[in-house]
Amino acid sequence: MMKTPIFDKYEQIKLLIDNSEDIISIHDIKGNYLFYGGSAKYDFLAEKIVGKSPYDFYEEEVAKKIIEQIIDTAKSGKRKKFETKIPRYGKEKWFQINLSPIRKNDKIVSVIKICRDITDIVIIKQKILKQKNFFKNIINSISQPLYVIDVETYKVVLANTSTSSNLSVKTKSCYALTHNSDKPCWENGVKCPVNIIKRTKSPCIIEHIHVDENNEEFITEVHGFPVFDENDNVIQVIEYNVDITEKKKLEQALIVEKEKAEESNRLKSSFLANMSHEIRTPMNAILGFGELLKNDSLSSEKKEEFIDIINSSGAHLLEIIEDIIDISKIDSKQIQLRISKFRLNPFINDIYKFFNSRIENKEEKELRVYSKIENGNDLIISDRKRLKQILINLLSNAIKFTHRGTIELYYSIKEKQLLFSVKDTGVGISEKDIPFVFDRFRQVGKMPEKVFVGTGLGLAISKGFVELMGGHISVVSKEGEGSNFSFSIPLLS
Ligand code: ADP
Repeated sequence: MMKTPIFDKYEQIKLLIDNSEDIISIHDIKGNYLFYGGSAKYDFLAEKIVGKSPYDFYEEEVAKKIIEQIIDTAKSGKRKKFETKIPRYGKEKWFQINLSPIRKNDKIVSVIKICRDITDIVIIKQKILKQKNFFKNIINSISQPLYVIDVETYKVVLANTSTSSNLSVKTKSCYALTHNSDKPCWENGVKCPVNIIKRTKSPCIIEHIHVDENNEEFITEVHGFPVFDENDNVIQVIEYNVDITEKKKLEQALIVEKEKAEESNRLKSSFLANMSHEIRTPMNAILGFGELLKNDSLSSEKKEEFIDIINSSGAHLLEIIEDIIDISKIDSKQIQLRISKFRLNPFINDIYKFFNSRIENKEEKELRVYSKIENGNDLIISDRKRLKQILINLLSNAIKFTHRGTIELYYSIKEKQLLFSVKDTGVGISEKDIPFVFDRFRQVGKMPEKVFVGTGLGLAISKGFVELMGGHISVVSKEGEGSNFSFSIPLLS
């Protein structure tokens, strides 16, 4: 037996409409109401509405918009969905409106309108947007680059304005953004903060070399923080970068300064030890031989020999003291150049004669002088005393560090420069020592024999004098093969 339904079809539809949360209305193709029902919240008496237009109930602007959309739906036959703000009972309400055409015999006869109150959703959306803007302002107020990376794709999903002026930053991978590379940084042997955080699930701080938009490298401290999903998996990494290039440079400079200070301290101590030894040797000779001279029974030859020793020790002592005075004058910039006019050829000849007379084993060691300056063209203006001191320092070193072979002194005038070089075939200087030979108190290489002992000031003084005269001094040398010290001084006129 057929069961009689409690409600007929019409009643069922009416019940559905009446209990719906939405407002359901049917309009003719001009927008006038044919039917009104639905949400009890907005219950109007249907009889009062049917036959009327939205203009009768809504503000003009709202009504116009609704009617236009209904007419458009009726004409196009296409469904429509839009959101609109409608004041209701003195309150601002947001509605989502769905319009669907109704056909009869293939002709659009009316439009069904379903209005859903989405005010709560809109309010939540607005709140979210407000919060989003608030956080956006916070991250944009940070002057360091800050960005969020997806741990699966390594793509930058969010970035603050300091990250890059490049708007496409969000589509970039983090390694393209920070290293301008198409390869992940770990493939270039660099520790990747994203990988570290994925593994450790903890924040990390590491140093990276990044490049800016102009491909200039800078050192940065990358601070990374994990972002977790509800299952405690790391899904994103927040990174912010601090440019520490200047800090690093400063640190480096401090280290260099510290090393310099330590080195200078060490050199000063070794200088003092060396100096006391250097001073003590001639001093002992002076005192010892002076004491011996008291002996009346000494032969006159012996007395003369002792006096000679006392004299040469005294002269050596004076040399040492003069060196110390010179270097401290250079340091305190107290040296005044004494410029005079003099002839270069006889000046060099005197120096040659002085050194040549001091070379004992002439068959093994030979001093030669070369010059293209003719006697008539050798008048120069310079500081004769300082120039002589430089040449004496270089020549005595060359003779001192050459057991056998030649010591050659070249001098010439070229492009308003006085050029000198002292070349020897002596012990030479190792590559690692060359950068330090002009440093004060510096004695490089091995010093196996007594003859090598010096103050370590000669070259520093020479460099000081050459530079004081506006010139430049340098050395080319090879260990075991010899050295060539050359310097140039601008010619004064
Ligand atoms: P020193 O009084 O020790 O000679 P210098 O300042 O004149 O001091 O020289 C510094 C160091 O440079 C020397 O101790 C030596 O090791 C090296 N040097 C200088 N000139 C020469 C040279 N012509 N050949 C080899 N080494 C040299």
